[in-house]
Amino acid sequence: MTSINSLAVFCGSRVGINPAYAEAGRILGTGLAHAGIRLVFGGGRIGIMGIVADAVLAAGGDVLGVIPEFLTRWEVAHDRVTELVVTDSMHTRKRRLYEESDAFLVMPGGLGTFDEAFEIITWRQLRLHDKPIFLCDVAGSVAPLVATIDHAIAQGFAAPSSRDLFEVIDGVPAVLERLKLVPAGTGGPASRL
Ligand code: AMP
Repeated sequence: MTSINSLAVFCGSRVGINPAYAEAGRILGTGLAHAGIRLVFGGGRIGIMGIVADAVLAAGGDVLGVIPEFLTRWEVAHDRVTELVVTDSMHTRKRRLYEESDAFLVMPGGLGTFDEAFEIITWRQLRLHDKPIFLCDVAGSVAPLVATIDHAIAQGFAAPSSRDLFEVIDGVPAVLERLKLVPAGTGGPASRL
């Protein structure tokens, strides 16, 4: 049994071309439910997002979806989550996702996923929170993102210590093992988010 209560998962609103991405989403969702960790996510029922949420629910777990009003149609809001919060803007949505979570996990995705990943990493750099951030590699999905950060470090635009703001983990089973070691109360208060 893990000691964290809630994990925010950032992932694609599409499934991608490699079936390994959807499979990773299914394993993640089932694992979170079995570990008693609530899924906090963007509230859609499409793409990897929907696959993770469906897998948590199928295994009897809890899901909080946070979706801005304008995306409820586009992103096809998930209608079976434990709780769905509809916000007035993307900014309110992101803050609520961050506040509700004890840690963050980046799974394969597109521009929205990158935005959320970089934002939560930079907010940690700014000491607005100290919650753990995990990047899960699935079939090489993380390498381009980390290469972008390494390039910024090599070019003198980021401190080498930027690499300590997040952890790269190879595959979902290793993520689930790592989550068991995250102590309760990690990250402190969310008042600066
Ligand atoms: P994507 O990775 O582009 O499929 O998007 C995944 C999630 O990020 C979805 O929940 C989107 O609502 C959200 N998202 C998409 N575009 C943006 C954006 N420009 N800024 C922040 N979040 C976004």
